[in-house]
Amino acid sequence: MTDRYAVIGNPVGHSLSPRIHAAFAGRTGQDMEYGRLEAPTNGFARAAGEFLGAGGRGLNVTLPFKLDAWRWVDSHDEAAAASGAVNTIVVDGKHNRGCNTDGIGLTRDLLDNLGWKLDGARTLLLGAGGAAQGAIGSLMRAGATLTVANRTKSRAESLAARFGIANAGLDEVDAGWDVVVNATSASVAGIGGLVDPRVVMDSRCYDMFYALDSPTPFCAWATGHGAKAVSDGLGMLIEQAAQAFFLWRDVRPETAGITALLRSDAR
Ligand code: NAP
Repeated sequence: MTDRYAVIGNPVGHSLSPRIHAAFAGRTGQDMEYGRLEAPTNGFARAAGEFLGAGGRGLNVTLPFKLDAWRWVDSHDEAAAASGAVNTIVVDGKHNRGCNTDGIGLTRDLLDNLGWKLDGARTLLLGAGGAAQGAIGSLMRAGATLTVANRTKSRAESLAARFGIANAGLDEVDAGWDVVVNATSASVAGIGGLVDPRVVMDSRCYDMFYALDSPTPFCAWATGHGAKAVSDGLGMLIEQAAQAFFLWRDVRPETAGITALLRSDAR
């Protein structure tokens, strides 16, 4: 019987995950289907329970349910435990394991696809929400020397205390970074300039947000202020999906060329 998976969120119609997982299944010859599951904002547990209860083999979880999923699952992998958010549910019999593949997706894109150096890199992480929390462990494991900066400084302070890293308010950050990662959702609102422009001068700048047909506001702003290189988060999206696919199917899909496929679909 064909194994069923889905991405659960609200809204979920825009999600690229079905397209990405269909490409992975095609490349690896896995017999699976992957759909979209839109749940009411207060209805995560019911929708997830019904899907998995009816034989679904796993879920990806997107906004606004990553925290609901964290509370709902039976156990957490290390990344989910550290980040407080679940983006992948792996079913093992009656046991639902909550995982977080965002951090590994980010570092795979930075290291393997973009070829940016993280070991010893002075790295500034903008934001202190779920995505930032999910990224810290992976960035540290890759050897980055990390500072977290956030609009609400108290959130940066508590993250810094938890992980033993430096912190700042957005308006306090000085220049001198090898890598700047934007894990805020400011690009969603069209805002690119979050810090003093000298912060991005000569650094490699990564926006976790992505746009298929134009530079994101943060990437455009960083380019305009002398960044050495910029990338949006489409590669991270694909790599976090590849890790979820591996957790479900025990097969690692080839990710090369999928960024180009998605961008050409959008034209
Ligand atoms: P979240 O938990 O809601 O956190 C939002 C963060 O953005 C907070 O740190 C918030 O600061 C900050 N922020 C929001 N508006 C801002 C503004 N106008 N100026 C400065 N800071 C602002 O969201 P999230 O789940 O972490 O997601 C963050 C981003 O990562 C989103 O763009 C999301 O699409 C992206 N993401 C991408 C991938 C991928 O695979 N590419 C995966 C996960 C997330 P305060 O604390 O001050 O409110």
